[in-house]
Amino acid sequence: MFNKILIANRGEIACRVAATCRRLGIRTVAVYSDADADARHVAFCDEAVHIGGAAARDSYLRADHLIEMARETGAQAIHPGYGFLSENEGFAEGCAAAGLVFIGPPASAIRAMGSKSAAKQLMEKAAVPLVPGYHGEDQDPALLRREADRIGYPVLLKASAGGGGKGMRVVEASEGFEAALTSVKREAQASFGDDKVLVEKYLTRPRHIEIQVFADTHGNCVYLFERDCSVQRRHQKVLEEAPAPGMSEERRRAMGEAAVAAARAVGYVGAGTVEFIANQDGSFYFMEMNTRLQVEHPVTEMITGQDLVEWQLRVAAGEALPLAQEQLRIDGHALEARIYAENPDNNFLPSTGKLRYLRTPPAVQFMRGGAGETGGHGPAGVRIDSGVREGDTISPYYDPMIAKLIVWGRDRDEALSRMRQALAAYHVVGLSTNIAFLQRLVSSQAFRTADLDTGLIERNHDALFPAPAPVGIEVIALAVAAVLDSERRERRIDAADRHSPWTHAGPWRLNGGARRVLRFGIAGQTLEATLQAEERGSTLSFADQAAPFSSHCVNDDIRIDLGTRRVHGQVHAEGETLHVFVGGRHVALEWLDPLAHAGEAEGEGGKLTAPMPGKVIAVMVEAGASVTRGTPLLVMEAMKMEHTISAPADGVVGEVLYGVGEQVGEGEQLLGFEAKA
Ligand code: ADP
Ligand code: ADP
Ligand code: MG
Repeated sequence: MFNKILIANRGEIACRVAATCRRLGIRTVAVYSDADADARHVAFCDEAVHIGGAAARDSYLRADHLIEMARETGAQAIHPGYGFLSENEGFAEGCAAAGLVFIGPPASAIRAMGSKSAAKQLMEKAAVPLVPGYHGEDQDPALLRREADRIGYPVLLKASAGGGGKGMRVVEASEGFEAALTSVKREAQASFGDDKVLVEKYLTRPRHIEIQVFADTHGNCVYLFERDCSVQRRHQKVLEEAPAPGMSEERRRAMGEAAVAAARAVGYVGAGTVEFIANQDGSFYFMEMNTRLQVEHPVTEMITGQDLVEWQLRVAAGEALPLAQEQLRIDGHALEARIYAENPDNNFLPSTGKLRYLRTPPAVQFMRGGAGETGGHGPAGVRIDSGVREGDTISPYYDPMIAKLIVWGRDRDEALSRMRQALAAYHVVGLSTNIAFLQRLVSSQAFRTADLDTGLIERNHDALFPAPAPVGIEVIALAVAAVLDSERRERRIDAADRHSPWTHAGPWRLNGGARRVLRFGIAGQTLEATLQAEERGSTLSFADQAAPFSSHCVNDDIRIDLGTRRVHGQVHAEGETLHVFVGGRHVALEWLDPLAHAGEAEGEGGKLTAPMPGKVIAVMVEAGASVTRGTPLLVMEAMKMEHTISAPADGVVGEVLYGVGEQVGEGEQLLGFEAKA
């Protein structure tokens, strides 16, 4: 086994590879661009080398430089992860020439599978079933059109060198063929530097089912069953699962054996994925082979209990496969959701920015949470593969994936409910994400009943992109609870003073008025909630609902009782913005605290004034008191609401001009204040 390897990648996959290395006692060298100096993968590895500018071509795609760095740091092998150089035969060759092991297949296998048309010609010889189509060398437009007419519409035009869902066009009828061909060729040339295309029958309502294969240098080749990756947007995977719902043992074996035949046909070594497109009746056809570790490999790990990166390392070090075909078993069901920084409501446009707040569901890090593996913390079977932490930035330079959320259950239903729970506990503030969309997706009738095909998202558009639900009383109640709690905490600054009335104050002061109105802004609207104090408790009214209300807060975690209903949620406050997370929803409310800014703005002039006419109901400081920024100084009651005037900065209180019970006019000075220089 290796002592030290270099990981020529970034983000979650670099961390993923490093985690296994750490477990196996292999030292790791991370590489990083200008944009990634503080990235998680750099901190996670034993050493790190700076390799250039932020743009991938200036860093992560610099094959020769990466090889040089591997040699310089004494690494014996390079793991390419996925993307970047993982399917670059020149890089694999370059490693070998430099005396380094490329942790991946031989260059010849990458080359054989690199062109979709050449791969199909090979597969044809290996008797692997192919989608009816044309994948020949002759690219004469008239010939291509004749082939399309022969195959029958709709057909799919594909860039032979394509990947990542790019360079594909559906042609509905012969008339549209020429225009589609021109545009696919243009895109293929621009994206892949090769305008060769193939034509194939476009299947309606197909499923994407792929087989994980593994081969070693001793002539062994096995399949680790299938993954269903049918849920896609723009031909890109969104949810993946294993095993595929509805798969019979017989079909599983047939697909597994076809995949092994495909791998053997190109002398494959290491981890690979053979992608098939399957009809609803179960018939399946070879689509392409990805000659690397796949993004969605964790679902296979969860159901087989195997660590595929460990297998990759062992095979690359010349060992035989750890298990034979008959030793491999499927245990339970696993789902993966790709959490992206993107806006589903704006055509899934990537979003960039800082992860200002990040809370994740309790995870059993790394392997499946089967019996005995949970370590006693959190629900079993939740795994998070991520390359970012709170405070990190999703930059425009790389893939906007935040994390992969992977869950395991004894069956699909159990995995599904775990996924729903885990998504509900995944909280991000700072950029838009697809979390709420994923929640709707996994909760949709189509996905729950495994009515899967690649058009699932489009077909269920209305259910998956509903008009925003109106804000309900439980969201408002959580926001109110958070406001009351923050006021309570501010007052507690004075708690050491046993005579302070605030030490004994309840949710708010009864003599300050039994009714309080709190206003929240959302999407240009103002929502109004009323809290009415009664002898035996308080009542919260919002819209046309009212219920007895009480709350209990522990930091961001809030429990509210609304009559007989108990609701748990989280509220993260950023200034006046309250991010309420409840039941899988994230609602951002602006707390319209009329005094919050008034006090601060006036404070700069050395005096604190009343923003509206009202009555002073408490004075917490004396002239000459030295206070820190945010210390509550005085409380006013105006329009049946209480308002705390706080110190706008660290400083010293001047003259106190009003006492408890006195009326104050709007704009009147309440106290003097001298900010510390
Ligand atoms: P999969 O079928 O595993 O999703 P894809 O071909 O879509 O495979 O790509 C795998 C991952 O690698 C994706 O997350 C994609 O964003 C990333 N990727 C692909 N090509 C590149 C590239 N040239 N540079 C950086 N990342 C890439
Ligand atoms: P890429 O290299 O971009 O991953 P693939 O050939 O694997 O390209 O195709 C990506 C996706 O496009 C598939 O997962 C499937 O959803 C869709 N697709 C590909 N071929 C067909 C086809 N013949 N009929 C219908 N859909 C297809
Ligand atoms: Mg593919």
